[in-house]
Amino acid sequence: MASPLSDELSMDEYSLSSSVLLIGTIIPEEPLPQEKNSLSDLKRDENLWFEDGSIVLATDVHLFCVHKSILANNSSVFKDMLAMPSGGGTGSSDEEDTYEGKPVVKMVGDSDDDVRYLLMALYNHNFFRANNPTTAPILLSLLYASSKYDVPAIRSEVIKHLKSYYADELPKLRKCDLKDLVFGSDSSSDVDNDFDVKDFAFQLLSAGLRANLKEQLPTMYMECAGHPPKRILRLSNKFSLGNDVIGNILSGREKLSKWPYFFAANVFSPQLDCNFITCWETRSTALFDWIIKNQNHRELTRRITVEGVPCFIKEELSKKICADCLKRADTLFADVKSKFWPDLPKIFGLGTWEDLKKSV
Ligand SMILES: [Zn+2]
Repeated sequence: MASPLSDELSMDEYSLSSSVLLIGTIIPEEPLPQEKNSLSDLKRDENLWFEDGSIVLATDVHLFCVHKSILANNSSVFKDMLAMPSGGGTGSSDEEDTYEGKPVVKMVGDSDDDVRYLLMALYNHNFFRANNPTTAPILLSLLYASSKYDVPAIRSEVIKHLKSYYADELPKLRKCDLKDLVFGSDSSSDVDNDFDVKDFAFQLLSAGLRANLKEQLPTMYMECAGHPPKRILRLSNKFSLGNDVIGNILSGREKLSKWPYFFAANVFSPQLDCNFITCWETRSTALFDWIIKNQNHRELTRRITVEGVPCFIKEELSKKICADCLKRADTLFADVKSKFWPDLPKIFGLGTWEDLKKSV
């Protein structure tokens, strides 16, 4: 991992689960230790402690001494918070805390990772760059924290990064894997063993909803809807997706299921004659075979949309189908694809693409 702060990252792998819990807004069964911790119990963060800093941010683990000007210049939320007479505080203002004479802001509701990664990104512009390898916790934390604290420079970089997989326009839907969002498209298959791409899809949807993303939601929902219902329920609960969201995934899953058939039926068009009886027989048989082989086909929708006709007509099959029918398959496939894409937000109860773009 080509990160200037890779020492930190290995440690953070350990805290992935706690970060996920906070991102997913699961309410801990036990009270947060934060209430009991006094500032003197917290550790100074080694990397994000500037002696000339003017403010101390406190999570339930660390203290970060940073500069008010950096926070205020990049975040409207910090700017407003720091303009208050007390100098900040995200929660109660019962007593004004200071640490070594510097005002302290308690980062209530944020995990230690959320705060650390946000600050790292603010202080080092190479810490997170769109379309470069990163880690799942960094991506999730930056999406959450840049939205909560309104840090447009970081939020837009995160969204740009997400768009490489979660396209908001049909031509931008590319052939790539969800894991590429973390490891990059050049990564080999022997990636981080702790990374679970199934979990990641649901974590991202959860984070995307909390960050009020719009244009990425249809493809985020589509990704989750490709999984079997039991897994959808398990992972939706694990990452605290609400009942309405689970309902949209499941009902969207059913609506999504007709599209692979539409694609297949149009590509093979067994109802249409041509001059070659073997071509017609091949197309009829191929459609039947495809349906039998792809009973669990929902996860295919993205692949079909991206790969096109070769997804159905492999090289061997193409030798048995006549040129006219191959040409027609391309045309009809494109026709179905142009109908599928506008339908995608509706499938998940999100209105139209125009609605989503307007509300950004
Ligand atoms: Zn033909």
